[in-house]
Amino acid sequence: MNISPVLLDDDPDMFDYNTFSHGLYIGGQWRPSSDGRHIKVVDPSTEAVIAAVPDATLADAEAAVEAAAKAAAGWRDTAPRKRSEILRRCFELMTERAETLAALISLENGKALRDARAEVIYAAEFFRWNAEEAVRISGEFGLAPSGANRIVVDYQPIGVCVLITPWNFPAAMATRKIAPALAAGCTVILKPASETPLTAYALAALYEEAGVPPGVVNVLTTSNPGPLTAAMLADPRVRKLSFTGSTGVGRVLLAEAAKHVISCSMELGGNAPFIVFDDADLEAALDGAMVAKMRNAGEACTAANRIYAQAGIHDSFAEGLRKRMTALKVGSGTDADTECGPMITGKAVDKIDRLVRDAVGRGAEVLCGGAITQGRGYFYPPTVLRNVPADADMAHEEIFGPVAPIARFEDEAEVIARANDTEYGLAAYIYTRDLARGMRVASKIESGMIALNRGLMSDPAAPFGGVKQSGLGREGGQKHGIAEFMEAKYIAVTI
Ligand code: NAP
Repeated sequence: MNISPVLLDDDPDMFDYNTFSHGLYIGGQWRPSSDGRHIKVVDPSTEAVIAAVPDATLADAEAAVEAAAKAAAGWRDTAPRKRSEILRRCFELMTERAETLAALISLENGKALRDARAEVIYAAEFFRWNAEEAVRISGEFGLAPSGANRIVVDYQPIGVCVLITPWNFPAAMATRKIAPALAAGCTVILKPASETPLTAYALAALYEEAGVPPGVVNVLTTSNPGPLTAAMLADPRVRKLSFTGSTGVGRVLLAEAAKHVISCSMELGGNAPFIVFDDADLEAALDGAMVAKMRNAGEACTAANRIYAQAGIHDSFAEGLRKRMTALKVGSGTDADTECGPMITGKAVDKIDRLVRDAVGRGAEVLCGGAITQGRGYFYPPTVLRNVPADADMAHEEIFGPVAPIARFEDEAEVIARANDTEYGLAAYIYTRDLARGMRVASKIESGMIALNRGLMSDPAAPFGGVKQSGLGREGGQKHGIAEFMEAKYIAVTI
């Protein structure tokens, strides 16, 4: 099966969507599910069914583990330089085909084309970064304190990995796992989200073209993720689960993995505070808020979920944000000038609507938006709320949409306490011209990542991840990302 000709064509109008959904990708082969069933893929901008992908069965999942296990020894023994060159080729091919991949992401996810382009670049960077890291994996050598022996520590690939990813970054959440796993010498089975499988399959074809051997990356889609994942984790050849998704599903998977004592990396939900002190540069804070809130139309784990503005800057910040949010062009993800696309599903829109109604019912004031857009597509308008009380549901749950809730605060101690009043701890944003205060507040906020006078922190070269209920482990960064896919082997040797 040859998927390359369509990928080579950089004109989105030339899409044949079904080209990206030929089959499950197992052992380098494209195949239907063993019972011939399919999952429909919907364009959230129009609600039209655009493709169907195979719905994997337990037998297909077993075949994927078998393929990954069969390919493991060959890939582990492939020279790091060779692995690095293949990863580099993945980066180059993704970069060459960025427009086609971005259009595909916009189509199945609904995000604005400009966000999809940024995602492709970010996603490709994980291959470039890990191509560079693949040749720098080193061990340790030292003298035992007793003087009796040397301590040698060797880092080895952990084994077959099951990777599960969400729909909000269909390319980047997959490459953030696949690239370090392959750099470490592991083979993988990727289960992408059912809403956005086409990007995962398009990338699988690209990996093959880049020289990734059969069985090293396997991709399967299923409408039955619980039992299939449980079956894969029960196979003793599987040694790693790397999951990105909601905290609720993460908890279920941790319990499942515990039965087999499988290493877990968990990138889970967030509830990021965005704090603006009186001395902040107002325009910079507004620019940052628009990125932190509206990248991917708010469908990001790092999205600013609670905005706290200090009393002196509060009114001008709220008015500035209202103006910017009102000016956004809402439309189909694939339209060139769209700035805010649809949500992923009607269910997601209903959740946002529930949270907004709850906040308004508790006294929040709507500055713009605030009601579901009627018509085709899963749209919710850019919305700004102020005076959002601490007991509003949206102060504790991920909104995952284009809603900016603002609350006023008086002093530093108060805002730190409010920022930390959540079970989550993924990301936080701080705007102040006082660097000492910025660093002090950053050190007291309970989160894995802080953006200080910035609206964006994601970077393949930095460790991404959360504390508290936002996860376990880190992706990307110097050593961190690859370390999740390696085991330390200690050898005591007398010389
Ligand atoms: P989700 O419902 O947890 O689903 C994530 C993935 O898990 C999907 O592939 C899903 O498959 C699969 N899944 C669902 N139930 C499962 C089960 N019982 N066993 C095995 N797999 C299962 O999350 P989502 O709605 O796709 O994504 C949004 C969430 O992801 C948000 O909470 C967001 O904060 C989080 N997120 C976190 C990060 C981070 O780096 N921390 C990054 C992005 C997103 P199906 O699609 O087939 O249901």
